[in-house]
Amino acid sequence: MSTIIDGKEIAATIKTEIATEVKSLLDHGRPAPHLAVIIAGQDGAALSYVNSIEKQCKGVGYICSAYKFPEDVKEKDILDTIDFLNRDDEVNGYIIQMPLPKQVSIDKVTAHVDPRKDMDCFHPANMGNLLLGKECFLPATPHGVMELIRRSNIDTTGKECVILGRSNIVGKPLAMLLLQKDANATVTVCHSRTKNLKRVCSRADILIVAIGQPEMITEDYVKEKATVIDVGIHRIPDVGQPNGYRVCGDVKYDEVSKKCEAITPVPGGVGPMTMACLLQNTMTAYHRQNDGNTLQ
Ligand code: NDP
Repeated sequence: MSTIIDGKEIAATIKTEIATEVKSLLDHGRPAPHLAVIIAGQDGAALSYVNSIEKQCKGVGYICSAYKFPEDVKEKDILDTIDFLNRDDEVNGYIIQMPLPKQVSIDKVTAHVDPRKDMDCFHPANMGNLLLGKECFLPATPHGVMELIRRSNIDTTGKECVILGRSNIVGKPLAMLLLQKDANATVTVCHSRTKNLKRVCSRADILIVAIGQPEMITEDYVKEKATVIDVGIHRIPDVGQPNGYRVCGDVKYDEVSKKCEAITPVPGGVGPMTMACLLQNTMTAYHRQNDGNTLQ
């Protein structure tokens, strides 16, 4: 059986480190870090993520403000809120929760964000700095994956690393992070048009899956003794469960865990790390804004 990479435990360690730092700030008469969230509409997963952010902020001692809008919100109201948050010195960072209603342009919204407060790394300036290997806020999920790898002492240097999925929020930024000189992996990125997917995946020493396809990755995609990181998260109907569903990832866990060396479970793998890294970004923004250490 493989080693389980316990994202819940690693995230708890990060949150304890953050809570200790917040306490020290407060003991020195300084304000707590402040994270804001903008959300529009009634998407269940988005609402539950935002509720979780509010709860986790409270848990580490942060201030959290949520700006909640109806589905028919005007684009101008979202842009005005962003302007307000950009000007508010008491807010260190914010995220704009996706999906946004169709009348709101994601490009306009993203361009409005002050890169110094861009906790999700959506702004082109932050994305560009990420590509160049310069200092920037790292997108929470890829950052969470890297922290999982590092804190589990998994060496990436010279390793064949295959990423399944090329989204702007997971696959592409993760590829950039693994290519950088502190990671030194040999990176392949796959997508829905990749040919011979099984063969490409079977090369991987480290296989990272972010495709949004429940349990698609079976043991025949995985090399013996590989490390498997499952970013996917789904609720699928299951009449055998009291609530009528079960949570799973993009990887068929029971099968793959028998073949690989180490694996992240779902839930309890990458998910908690995303939240912990969002909190870490907020602390970084706090120090940059209050201690004179600014992003370029
Ligand atoms: P997207 O839908 O934006 O991207 C999916 C990617 O997977 C695309 O590049 C797509 O290819 C590729 N893909 C889809 N189907 C296949 C297939 N059959 N074979 C090969 N490639 C395929 O998804 P996200 O990156 O936003 O999310 C991926 C998963 O991660 C989802 O399950 C999501 O819920 C989860 N997630 C989890 C987070 C967490 O904190 N745990 C945070 C963010 C996401 P193409 O580009 O060609 O369409």
